[in-house]
Formats: sequence, C-alpha cells, structure tokens
Amino acid sequence: MNFGTCKLCHNETRLSIEHVPPRSCGNKVRYNNASILDFMTSEDPLSYPFKGKVFQGGIGYNSYCNNCNTFLGNEYVRYYKEWFNVGLDLIQDSNNKGFDFTALRQNPLRLLKQVLGMFVAINPISSLVNNPELINFLNNPESKKCPKEIRVFCYLNNGPRLRYLELNQKGNFKSGKIVLGSEITFPPFGYVLVLNNDDFSNDLLTEITGFSHFGANNDYHLSLKMNKLDTCLPIILDYRSRDEIEKKIAKIN
Ligand SMILES: [Zn+2]
Repeated sequence: MNFGTCKLCHNETRLSIEHVPPRSCGNKVRYNNASILDFMTSEDPLSYPFKGKVFQGGIGYNSYCNNCNTFLGNEYVRYYKEWFNVGLDLIQDSNNKGFDFTALRQNPLRLLKQVLGMFVAINPISSLVNNPELINFLNNPESKKCPKEIRVFCYLNNGPRLRYLELNQKGNFKSGKIVLGSEITFPPFGYVLVLNNDDFSNDLLTEITGFSHFGANNDYHLSLKMNKLDTCLPIILDYRSRDEIEKKIAKIN
C-alpha cells in the first residue's frame, strides 16, 4: 500500500491498488510495462521486447483509497462486467470492421462512469482529477452531468498491444488540428478520452459519451456498431495494422 492523495475523495490516506480494467474483467495476469521512449527508440518497434516493471496480479494504479475503491466496485464494476462479457463474445469473430450488435441488459451510465474512473486512475493527479464536475459525476451514481469538455469513444480490440496512454497531444499534419486525449486498451475494448474538442471525429471509433443520458437504475438494450481495431504501437489513435506500418517503414527506407 502507498500513502498519497485519493483521486476521488482527495483525502491524504493509504491508497489501495485500483485494477485497470477491473480484476474480474480479465486483468489478473502478469504484464510488463515499458516506457514509450524506450519503445520508440528501439531498432524495431514492432518486435520490441517489453521490459521494465512487472506487475503481479494484473495492471493496477495506486489511485484510490479503500473506501473509494469499494464504492467504485459496488456502484460500477459489476455493471461493467456485463459489458465486458459482451465484448469478449464479439472479438471471437474474425471479421474486423463494422460489427452491428445489441448488448442486452446494460447499464450505460454506470459503465461510462467505470470507464471514466479508469481514465482518472491512470492519469496524473494534476489533469483529470482537478475537474470538480468530473469528480462529482463519478461520486454520484445517479448524476447524468458528464462534463461537456469530455468525450469518450470505444472500439473492439484483441491486441496486439495494451495501451495505457496518459493525456497527450496528437497533431494531424494534413489538417493542422491537435487532439488532446488519453487512451486505454485492454481486450476486448479500447477507449479514447478526448478533452475540449467538439470538432473531433474519427470514423473508426464509436462515441459513447451519450451513455450519460441513461437512467442509473434501469437496464437497457444497446444497439451499436463498432470496429475491431489493431493496436500495434503505443501511439494514441493509431490503428494501423502491422502490414500497413511495415509498408510505411519500407517506403521511408
Ligand atoms: Zn477516496
């Protein structure tokens, strides 16, 4: 256990490990972590051997106190598990693009809050945690007031790499536009959080910000369309396949 500031109640206290995603959603095994710099400066990023800190018992962050951890577990995690099960079935299909599916008996509001709780957990305390509206939204299971500046997108994923990318900027040389975002990818889902950007759109991603409009105490059937995207490099919004990346590298050389 570590001592520090809980990102939800802001108390200075002992922090427990928050699993991202929840332990019950496949996050139980050992993983290696590598810094993005090591990765990008290696001779062949595509076959870079991940090394560094080894997490035992899943990927976790010292982000929340015991009370908040229990609160999130009770209010959001079990609903998220239902969503996880749907994704697990979907990624078995070999077809990558445009899955139409209906997820039965879901609680969209609570699963959105679980996703946002994961983004708060992996990001430094100076960024998302300083947004009182976001913290209120998470602390109150019934609240539908998701901060306007936050948008959340989702896709299906079956690797090959996990992503735990803190808020960072990505520029588009063609459009000259910059996106500020954070990304978490752990099969069967990937999520992108985009900040302060009403204009952002990406045809590959499915926006789930609207999950905030659902009631907290009812189940819903969700009809959605999603793509299964590859995550070969630790770069936000990069869904190129290994083939596409290798062709690009061959072109440059
Ligand atoms: Zn707390």
